[in-house]
Amino acid sequence: MPQEQLLQNKYVRSIISGIVRSRMSKRNRPFEDGLYAALCGTGSPMADIHRVGSCIAVLAGKHFFVVDAGEGSTRNALLMSLPIAKTDAILLTHYHSDHIADLGEMMLQRWVGGSNQSPVDVIGPSGVEQVVQGFNLAYQLDAGYRVAHHGSETAPASGSGGVARPFELGAAEDASAVVYEQDGVKITAFKVDHRPVVPAVGYRFDYKGRSVVISGDTVYCASLEKQARGADVLFHEALNADMIQLANENAAAAGSATIAKVTHDIPSYHSTPEDAARLAAQAGARHLIFYHIIPPLPNRLTKNLFLGDAKKFFHGPITMAEDGLLVSLPPDSDRIEIRNILK
Ligand SMILES: [Zn+2]
Ligand SMILES: [Zn+2]
Repeated sequence: MPQEQLLQNKYVRSIISGIVRSRMSKRNRPFEDGLYAALCGTGSPMADIHRVGSCIAVLAGKHFFVVDAGEGSTRNALLMSLPIAKTDAILLTHYHSDHIADLGEMMLQRWVGGSNQSPVDVIGPSGVEQVVQGFNLAYQLDAGYRVAHHGSETAPASGSGGVARPFELGAAEDASAVVYEQDGVKITAFKVDHRPVVPAVGYRFDYKGRSVVISGDTVYCASLEKQARGADVLFHEALNADMIQLANENAAAAGSATIAKVTHDIPSYHSTPEDAARLAAQAGARHLIFYHIIPPLPNRLTKNLFLGDAKKFFHGPITMAEDGLLVSLPPDSDRIEIRNILK
């Protein structure tokens, strides 16, 4: 079909117009006051057709944060119509690639999506300076093209990229620090145990009597248990050791020494679903949500197998995260509502 005919085609016009209008209206729709966690990415470094890299966006009142930016997470955040252009800060838990691969895209969308005039704050433990500097440099040419093409009003050169905001925690294994506090929103960073990856942290968000805790990558960790005390929702990473053992045996049998070695090593710095369930019970968290799922799961049947004996240890609700889930915690209540906004 010739181009002019295509654009006159009523069907084509209504589809394209509908997509754009729907995205715009959703993106501009204000969230009601409260605390929200949006799961933009719930996977791990192992390629997964159902899950992109780790990323949880948190809305608290009028403030918007992104915790980690795993590969593909910016695309999901846009499809979920999240207000990336209004990001107050991106927070990083550690610098494994599955937590930072999309940082450049996340900073880019935040910049051009809102014609922002200053770079976004990127908060993290020491090392964040190097990571942000690297992405800023890698995206420098792209930023120049966008200013030249769209003009400095739409793409102000001063707003591209990010500014590293490093923080230091004390020497104690359960050291923590408040890294953001404004308008009733408090974010606490705390140490977790992902050795040999040091530093590695998790984050707790408190707003109007509601709280969510994000584990980052960790083994069972007393510091996380302390921060998760009484939390409404604990987002905990999880690795099913039996499934990884199976992957290990098959990799070895197939002669892949590298995959056999990696699958042998990774259980030592992640938590099993049972570990996470014991921690959630010990902390008195109200709802446990597994994310950063290792290994990739092909279907719903394997989701239950993945959980193993977790339900024996934690008697509250357990949810297997999926990309696109929005967890809503209305202020000063005990309600926790979950729906998928990606589908
Ligand atoms: Zn990691
Ligand atoms: Zn990870």
